[in-house]
Amino acid sequence: MPEIEPIPLRSLTTLRVGATPARMIDARTQDELVAALRDVWADGGPWFVLGGGSNLLPGDEAFPGTVIRILTSGFEVVPGAPAGSVRLRVQAGQNWDELVAWTVAQGLSGIEAMSGIPGTAGAAPIQNVGAYGQEIVQTLVEVELIDEETGEVSTVPASELGLGPRTSVLKQHYGSTAERSAVVLSLTLDLVHVGHGPRPIEDARLRSALGLSTDDAVSVQWIRDTVITTRRGKGMVLDDPDPDTHSAGSFFNNPIVDEHVARTLPAECPRWPMTPQLDTVAVIPLSAYEGFVPPRPPQETLVKVSAAWLIEHSGLGKGFHLPRSRASLSTKHTLALTNRGGATAGEIAELARFVQSRVAAEYGIVLQPEPVLVGVEL
Ligand SMILES: Cc1cc2nc3c(=O)[nH]c(=O)nc-3n(C[C@H](O)[C@H](O)[C@H](O)COP(=O)(O)OP(=O)(O)OC[C@H]3O[C@@H](n4cnc5c(N)ncnc54)[C@H](O)[C@@H]3O)c2cc1C
Repeated sequence: MPEIEPIPLRSLTTLRVGATPARMIDARTQDELVAALRDVWADGGPWFVLGGGSNLLPGDEAFPGTVIRILTSGFEVVPGAPAGSVRLRVQAGQNWDELVAWTVAQGLSGIEAMSGIPGTAGAAPIQNVGAYGQEIVQTLVEVELIDEETGEVSTVPASELGLGPRTSVLKQHYGSTAERSAVVLSLTLDLVHVGHGPRPIEDARLRSALGLSTDDAVSVQWIRDTVITTRRGKGMVLDDPDPDTHSAGSFFNNPIVDEHVARTLPAECPRWPMTPQLDTVAVIPLSAYEGFVPPRPPQETLVKVSAAWLIEHSGLGKGFHLPRSRASLSTKHTLALTNRGGATAGEIAELARFVQSRVAAEYGIVLQPEPVLVGVEL
């Protein structure tokens, strides 16, 4: 097994924090990855897998177990796509943005608005990555998983992954364990072949995120270029000399609250109604049918509200930092917590707690972190 001299996590995470773990294994092929996981699970110690380290906040104390770096790469066209689409099988360690760039160059549509997201393809389903009106749930067909409980590899349809807003059954949320402890070995995507020319965008969410009208026609390359330019302006594309990008992207999820909670917020706070499930079918067993269909109970409408707005309107502007701290809010985007040079995980966590407490005091909403926290308390 390719065990290596452990590398400090601060040099493998985009937040640039984290001590050196006790043990580290590099897995460059799927077979190596499977063997390493089975071995580590048989030993029974703590473990986690590391992709690009762009959604991770590891602590300042050494992780007392094994970190397995997923360094597999590559993707291939496989049979089975519906007419007009192309099916791709992608190795978990494949760089996500290189994959997106390739699909755009082939005139394929489905992930172009997720251009510029750092990290690996295998991590994309973990929190159902999304940006500018696209989410991986829209194109993901299935994943090849290895489960910790059985050590077995199986193919699992996307519909069984509980993919939701920045979550899935595979994500280890702060303070809890994942609903399904498993590692993605590869994923399968169906992308529509639209060619290189401009075309109107049917998806209303994508149109609205890109500021397009129903009459506008744009190419997949235009979408990729526009998204990357917009992201750069917000410090959301990795750029070594720019400390605003030394982050984990958005540090807090946009909170999803009941409609009545959203109504208590100022009207200017941006909000997006979550689609109510209007098409659910009511099944009445024949033995219980009394000749009429009972009215449905009123459905609670959930509303997603802007975490960036809540932070800014709690008095914490862009670039905010605590006295003597080397962690600050990005000078381009209040939702990103950044490392200005030499900040510890403790300093990032201290800033995160301060932001949470200010927003809670002002609006009664406790923001939840989006990155996975390892050995860090908020
Ligand atoms: C500048 C910047 C911008 C960002 N913008 C966005 C954005 O627009 N939208 C968005 O959704 N996210 C965004 N992110 C967050 C991040 O890039 C994504 O979540 C990405 O998918 C993480 O990939 P990774 O390989 O770096 O994961 P890592 O940080 O290495 O891992 C994250 C978690 O996933 C687990 N994991 C990783 N690989 C696997 C696997 N194969 N199987 C099982 N578990 C695994 C890890 O154990 C860890 O718990 C951004 C981050 C940065 C730094």
